[in-house]
Amino acid sequence: MKPLAPVDLPRGLPGAIARIAERVSNQTDVRDLDFHSAADGMFLADLHCDTLLWGVDPMASRNGGHVDGPRLARAGMGLQVFAAPTWTPLPFRNDEDRLVVSARSFDQSHGLFPTELLTPARERNRKRRSRALAIARRFHEMTRDSQSETAPFEAVPLMQGGDLDGLTRGDGRPNIGVMLALEGLHWLADDDPAERVEATVDELYEAGFRMMAPTHRFSNGLGGASENSAGKGGLTAAGRKWLNLCFDRRIVVDLAHASSALIREASGMALTREDGPKPIIISHAGIKAVNPRARNLSEGDIRAVASTGGLIGIGFWRSAMGWTDDEPYLAKMQRLVESFVAALDTLSEPHFVEEMEGRHGRYDPYEHLAFGSDFDGATTTAFDVTGVSHVVAALANARDQKMRTIFPSDKLALISGENTRRVLQVAMT
Ligand SMILES: [Zn+2]
Repeated sequence: MKPLAPVDLPRGLPGAIARIAERVSNQTDVRDLDFHSAADGMFLADLHCDTLLWGVDPMASRNGGHVDGPRLARAGMGLQVFAAPTWTPLPFRNDEDRLVVSARSFDQSHGLFPTELLTPARERNRKRRSRALAIARRFHEMTRDSQSETAPFEAVPLMQGGDLDGLTRGDGRPNIGVMLALEGLHWLADDDPAERVEATVDELYEAGFRMMAPTHRFSNGLGGASENSAGKGGLTAAGRKWLNLCFDRRIVVDLAHASSALIREASGMALTREDGPKPIIISHAGIKAVNPRARNLSEGDIRAVASTGGLIGIGFWRSAMGWTDDEPYLAKMQRLVESFVAALDTLSEPHFVEEMEGRHGRYDPYEHLAFGSDFDGATTTAFDVTGVSHVVAALANARDQKMRTIFPSDKLALISGENTRRVLQVAMT
């Protein structure tokens, strides 16, 4: 198809953003945005939350945090991915006084797994692995607890492509598809033999993981991370082995937190598989055009992932978009809208559209965007999971300079959940 509104935006994105901002802020009160009905009847999906890291009962309501059972049900979510970060380093200042995170930083999630505080540092790798398996157990407990008639929703664990078929936004006690994802396989080394890489992937698959991100906040034995003081290379030999195993086992490959070199290399491998191209996703990230930090995605990153038929999950948190706490709620929502518009603009670039139509026969830039909140990931967001409908409303209200809707409702339904359902199903089948 021909790209829609975004190609009519001026090349300078700030001009377009200013107009969208003006349009939205002309509505004088938050309540004037039709926050709830915009998402009515839509299948809502989110590619990343870290709720299971915190040792709380995910089915019980709690004060604070972003996600719990009652709020997931109230938000009308249809699918939620639960991630297991295995090592969350505390940033420290390096010799150049720049804030960095690395495998040498203090692991701040020790506090969440108190028994580990007494474990000697040399057993780090064992801890990283055991933390992943502990979070997997919490995931299965959540699924089991959701079977109770009094639970706020029934969790449908997504273990193979077919499990995505039955997910609908039902009446009464809702069904919500839940998926277990790994963030950082830090206990593999770049020179690990193929058998050890395979045994590790098999152990994690057995534990229920169906999505894996090789790196997290620093480079490791599988490849380069987006944030790292010590090089941002592509995949290592072990990383290439890991990637092909994920494709073989129908595990969704998530390159959030990966370096641009890794994203480029993995996308190339995904496209040249003998059994046909495999989609790769980025579960949660911001966009460099809106906030140029290392962790955010460049135009090249966005197009590389889309070229595999994959997805970009746009994050909802403060440092992804670069808003400050004193900005009003609507201004924060506008930053989020800007991120979606910027990514859509990148995906609608005429040469890329031509290339994609040539490769896949058809191409719709809207089919490669999704939600990737990073709720409960030690993040600051302007809203909790019940605010996902606000995102839908804010996108529905976005206009280009000719006052045309940028995200018409059929395209908005894709971004809000249908893309996630489709691409996960393709990757898992
Ligand atoms: Zn993350």
